[in-house]
Amino acid sequence: MINLTDRRQCCGCSACADACPHRAIRMAEDGMGFKYPEVDEKLCTDCGICNAVCAFKPAGKNELMRTEAIRFPALLDKSQSGGLGFALMRKAIWEGRVVYGAAMGDDFCVRHIRVTEESGLEPLRLSKYVQSDMSGVPAMVLEDLAAGRKVLFTGTPCQCAGVASLAGKYRENLLLTDIICHGVPSPAVWRDFIKHQEDAKGKPVTAAIFRDKALGWHDHRETVFFGNEKQVSSDYTFLFYRHLMLRPSCSACPFASLTRPSDITMADCWGVEQTLPGFADDNRGCSLLIVHSKAGESFTETFPDECVRMDAPIVPEKQPNLFHPSVPNKRAKSFENTYIRKGYAAALRRFGQDSCSNRIDQFIKKVKRHI
Ligand SMILES: Cc1cc2nc3c(=O)[nH]c(=O)nc-3n(C[C@H](O)[C@H](O)[C@H](O)COP(=O)(O)OP(=O)(O)OC[C@H]3O[C@@H](n4cnc5c(N)ncnc54)[C@H](O)[C@@H]3O)c2cc1C
Ligand code: SF4
Ligand code: SF4
Ligand code: SF4
Repeated sequence: MINLTDRRQCCGCSACADACPHRAIRMAEDGMGFKYPEVDEKLCTDCGICNAVCAFKPAGKNELMRTEAIRFPALLDKSQSGGLGFALMRKAIWEGRVVYGAAMGDDFCVRHIRVTEESGLEPLRLSKYVQSDMSGVPAMVLEDLAAGRKVLFTGTPCQCAGVASLAGKYRENLLLTDIICHGVPSPAVWRDFIKHQEDAKGKPVTAAIFRDKALGWHDHRETVFFGNEKQVSSDYTFLFYRHLMLRPSCSACPFASLTRPSDITMADCWGVEQTLPGFADDNRGCSLLIVHSKAGESFTETFPDECVRMDAPIVPEKQPNLFHPSVPNKRAKSFENTYIRKGYAAALRRFGQDSCSNRIDQFIKKVKRHI
C-alpha cells in the first residue's frame, strides 16, 4: 500500500485513490491545502495496485520532437500566453473529444473539470497558479476511454503522468497536453489571499485573475474584482516566486525535463523577442509549442483558429523548469509553520514583500550591486 514517508514523493495526482479496487484511499488535505492519499487499513488488502499506478517517477520515452512559437491573434486577450491551450481544447471538442482542464469555481477553488461542449471551455482559459484538485478525475478519464470516447487532458506534467498510468490499453485515444511547470502553490494560501482582500475591502471578491493580460503579458500580479472595481496585488505572486509555498514534490519533480509523459507541452514563449524579432513584440503573448510524439505532431498540424507560427528554439535560461525543478526556499518550512499556526496575515508580515527580512535582503542585494 502507499506509505508516504516523504511528502516530496507525492504530487497529489489522485491516481492511486482512483485505482484502489477497495476504495481504501481518500485524498486528504494537509495544512497547506495540498492533498495526499490516506489509506484505511481496515479496507486495504495489500494488493499493491496503488504503488503500481503511482507515476511520480522519471517519465517514459516521449522526447522532444519539435518546438515552435505560435500565437492565435483572436485568442490573445483571453489566454495566458498565445492561446495555444484554448486552441487545442477547441479543436478537440470540434473533433468530438472530451476535454479535461483546470477551472476556478465560484468559491475560487481550482479543480479539474470535464467538458464536452465548446461553451463549457470558458472556465478553462488562463493559468491558475495554484494546485488544481484532481480528486476523482483519473477515474472519470478512464471511464470515458473505456466507453470508446477520445479524450484531451490538459494539466501539469505530473497530472498527465497520473492519468496516463490509469489509461493503460486505451492510451492511444488519450491526448495529453502539459505545461512547462514552475511548481504549484498552496490552495489554502490562495483561499486565504482572497479572504484577506475581502476583509481589507469589506466587500466580497467577485472574480480573480492570476495574471491579467490587460496589464501586459510580462506582468505577473493578481487582480481581484469587487464588482466593477478592481485591485492589483503582488503579495501572492511574491510568495509564489520566492518558492515559499510550493508543493513539496515540486522540488523533486521528475518532469522538469525535455522527456515527458505527454504528447504536447504548452508554455510561455519567453525570449521570443530576441529569437524571432518582430514575431511577438507587442507584449500581448506568445505560446511555445513543444511536440513530443507522433500523436502530438499530427494533432497540431492544423488548427481551426487562425494562427501565426514559426519554428523557434527554446531559450534555456528563460525556461529553467525544463531542465531542473524549482529550488525550494530555505525558509519554506518556517513559512509553512507560521502559516499553519498563526494564519495568512502573520505569515505575510513575516515572509511577504513588506517584511523586515525582505527589506534586509533587498538592501544587501543593492549593496552587493555597488561593490
Ligand atoms: C502552475 C503553473 C506553472 C507554470 N509555469 C510555467 C513556467 O515555468 N514556464 C512557462 O513557460 N509556462 C508556465 N506555465 C504555463 C503558462 O502559464 C500557460 O499556462 C501556458 O503557456 C498556456 O497558455 P495558453 O495561452 O496557451 O493557454 P490558455 O488558453 O490560457 O489555457 C490555459 C490552460 O492551462 C491549463 N491550466 C491552467 N491552470 C492550471 C493548473 N493550475 N493546473 C493544471 N493546468 C492548468 C488549463 O487546463 C488550460 O488548458 C505554468 C502554468 C501553471 C498553471
Ligand atoms: S494496496 Fe490495494 S487495497 Fe490497499 S490501498 Fe493500495 S490499492 Fe487499495
Ligand atoms: S503521486 Fe499520485 S499516485 Fe502517487 S501517491 Fe501521490 S496521489 Fe498517489
Ligand atoms: S513541478 Fe512537477 S510535481 Fe510540481 S506540479 Fe509541476 S509537474 Fe507536478
